[in-house]
Amino acid sequence: MVNLFLRAAGLAAAVTAAVGLAAAPASAAAFPALAWPFDAGQQVYSAGVHSDDGGTGVKNAVDFSPADGTARAALAGTVRLQHCAGGDWVTVDHPGGWRTGYYHLEGIQVTDGEHVEAGAVLGSTGNALPCGGSSTGAHVHFTLWTLPDAAAGDWDGVAFARISTTVAAALGEPIDGKTLGGWRLAEGAKQYSGTATHLADGTVVQLPGRFRAIP
Ligand SMILES: [Zn+2]
Repeated sequence: MVNLFLRAAGLAAAVTAAVGLAAAPASAAAFPALAWPFDAGQQVYSAGVHSDDGGTGVKNAVDFSPADGTARAALAGTVRLQHCAGGDWVTVDHPGGWRTGYYHLEGIQVTDGEHVEAGAVLGSTGNALPCGGSSTGAHVHFTLWTLPDAAAGDWDGVAFARISTTVAAALGEPIDGKTLGGWRLAEGAKQYSGTATHLADGTVVQLPGRFRAIP
C-alpha cells in the first residue's frame, strides 16, 4: 500500500506541475480523430457516455459491445499493459500525450511496449476485473486520457477505484465532442446517456442504444 500511495502522490505532483503550465503540449493540440475501438460497419450496443466510475466526475468513458466481441485499438500507438493482482488491462499511448483505455478485456492479444496500428486486435470484450470495478455483460469500457508525462501513465497496481476517481479527475479527457469512426459522440445530462451523430449523413443515435457503426 505504501508503494501505491507514493505512486499516487507522484502522479498528483506531476499533474499539479502540468496544470501550472499555461499551455501544456498535450492540451494545446486537438484530440485526434479516432477509429471505433472495434471493426466499423457492424452492429454495436453502446451503454452510453459516463464517468469512469459511473457516478461522478469527468465523463471520459463509453461502453461498447460490438457484435463480433473484438476490441481494437482506436488509434496507432504503444501498448501499456496495466498490471494488477487480478490480471492486466490495456492502455495505448498515442503521440501528443493522449491515451486510450480498454477495460474488461479477456484474452488480451497484445504485449507491453508493442506498437499497434489503429484497428489492431487488443482482445475480446468481456467482464474481466483485473484491478477491481464491476461489469454486467461483456463489453469494453473505453476511456480517454491526457498524460503530462510518461510517469503519470504508470498505473501498475493501481486499483480501479482510484483510477476511476482520483486519476480520472486529474487526467480524464471528456468523450463529449470526440469523433470515433466518423461519428461524433456527445454526453448527456445523466450517466450512461448521450448521442452518436454520423457526420456523413447526420443520423443521430440516442444512447444507450444499438446501431450499425457504418463508416
Ligand atoms: Zn463503462
